[in-house]
Amino acid sequence: MTEGNAKPRGMKPHVARKRFGQNFLVSAGIVAKIVDAIHPQTGDSIVEIGPGLGALTEPLLSRLDHLHVVEIDRDLIARLRERHDPQRLAIHEGDALQFDFSTLGPGLRVVGNLPYNISTPLLFHLAACADQVRDMHFMLQREVVERMVASPGGSDYGRLSVMLQYRFGMERLFLVPPGAFNPAPKVESAVVRMTPRSREDLVVADEALFTEVVKAAFSQRRKMLRNTLRERVGEEDWAELEIDPKRRAEELAVGDYVRIANRLAAVRPASSSSRC
Ligand code: SAM
Repeated sequence: MTEGNAKPRGMKPHVARKRFGQNFLVSAGIVAKIVDAIHPQTGDSIVEIGPGLGALTEPLLSRLDHLHVVEIDRDLIARLRERHDPQRLAIHEGDALQFDFSTLGPGLRVVGNLPYNISTPLLFHLAACADQVRDMHFMLQREVVERMVASPGGSDYGRLSVMLQYRFGMERLFLVPPGAFNPAPKVESAVVRMTPRSREDLVVADEALFTEVVKAAFSQRRKMLRNTLRERVGEEDWAELEIDPKRRAEELAVGDYVRIANRLAAVRPASSSSRC
């Protein structure tokens, strides 16, 4: 446990909580680089996940009329309330994993130095909001960012890559060393930009079915697709799709998964779609 970087007058220094993935940004240079990458404009609708002690919140607010934040730590929320006018900073107290981002309206920009302990489930939760979102900028563990942007064929390419890339164009912007944080994490970090793809790009007929197919394919990534998808995809489907069933999950492109799911959707009733 380590003391954080900022405290309002008269308040005790905040002690970073490991269970909330608290690694506070203390490098002014990195903060400026992230804010420049976000390029906030007056009137933008932005939500920051995990404002913490305000390293990104304050420079964002200086360029915006209004900002939403979602924070779980009550002590940090008390500090934010103390320092900011509620007319300009809307604080949503609670777990970002449970937060319904669709309530903030369309054209939303989502940003944050995310708590690394929940980054993967949080990305899956946010992926369901792609239709509402203009873009997202996140600081994450470098290893997670490598998986997000990976191309087929490599060991980084997996379920996370497919599930995010079918909804978003992905750009790794820059790396961030552990020394930019207090306390310093054990791993390197990276900043990623996610921009929703055009809806005509890759159209999935049944998202729940698509999710099911991708999950099953990568459940045993070294096995042939003929085996991992045996219960769902028959020999005639593979022939029709012109996909060799001896290939492995990591060899298929995102578009191949879309085609498999759409073929199955054509012969199966629709399942329920995921919640944003
Ligand atoms: N933005 C600050 C910065 O860059 O210094 C803090 C980033 S720190 C890595 C992660 C932040 O997310 C902390 O403020 C933490 O309390 C908050 N957090 C952790 N889990 C959360 C959750 N489930 N929902 C919302 N906020 C969460």
